Amino acid sequence: MQSGMKLYCIQVGAFRLPRGFVAARCRDANVPAVMPIYTYLIEHPRGRVLVDTGQSYEMRDENTVMEEKDTILHKLTALGLGPDDIDYVVMSHMHLDHSGYMNYFPNSTYIARREELKAAWWPEACEGGYVFPTYEKTRKFKFIQPGDDEEYDIFMDGAIVLIDTRGHSRGHQSVVLDLPNTGKTVLAADAAPLKEVLERRLLPGTCTDNWQAMRAVEKLLHYEACGYKLIYAHDPDNLPSISFPAYYD
Ligand SMILES: [Zn+2]
Repeated sequence: MQSGMKLYCIQVGAFRLPRGFVAARCRDANVPAVMPIYTYLIEHPRGRVLVDTGQSYEMRDENTVMEEKDTILHKLTALGLGPDDIDYVVMSHMHLDHSGYMNYFPNSTYIARREELKAAWWPEACEGGYVFPTYEKTRKFKFIQPGDDEEYDIFMDGAIVLIDTRGHSRGHQSVVLDLPNTGKTVLAADAAPLKEVLERRLLPGTCTDNWQAMRAVEKLLHYEACGYKLIYAHDPDNLPSISFPAYYD
């Protein structure tokens, strides 16, 4: 546990799609729902960490539900922050609703899995969801690239640990936090987009590797069984209980 830590859960738009798009064989799979898109800002005594950059307003499409004021850049401004105030940008993965503003943090250090970078820059035909213009300027940015199985502890104090949850995408990672009052918390990202994915052991709506995605579900269930609080990426029925600009501490 690291005193002085804060977690902001920041909604940065939404998309309207059938629920089955995010969770295969979920209930009401064919029924369209407005599903939130989140980024997370973590304040740690040794630096600010942004997890994902959200949907691009400029590259929104007919399924996007957002206004210009919803972007991560505007939300940071509301806190009196700009891109240069962010020390690390962690990418859970690089699908378009997470990578939208990657080009805008040139002085931050990115942490993305090596395999995710390969998938994003040169996807196989079956790997959809990558929109190259959202990260085309990042080639010369600074990247830390953990390997497949690696647990990456950002400040080496157990406060922010990145864990391998690949399967939805080739290099997907989730974020394990040890908050002073809230306690142990997992930002599942798209390894568990809905709570129902864990409850019914479903797969995310798209996977590059079904078997690995199910291992990720089992891993997150293990954390939950051990008392960790789970935060889901796109669940309109299970939103974070504390929302921006309030924060978990
Ligand atoms: Zn995704």
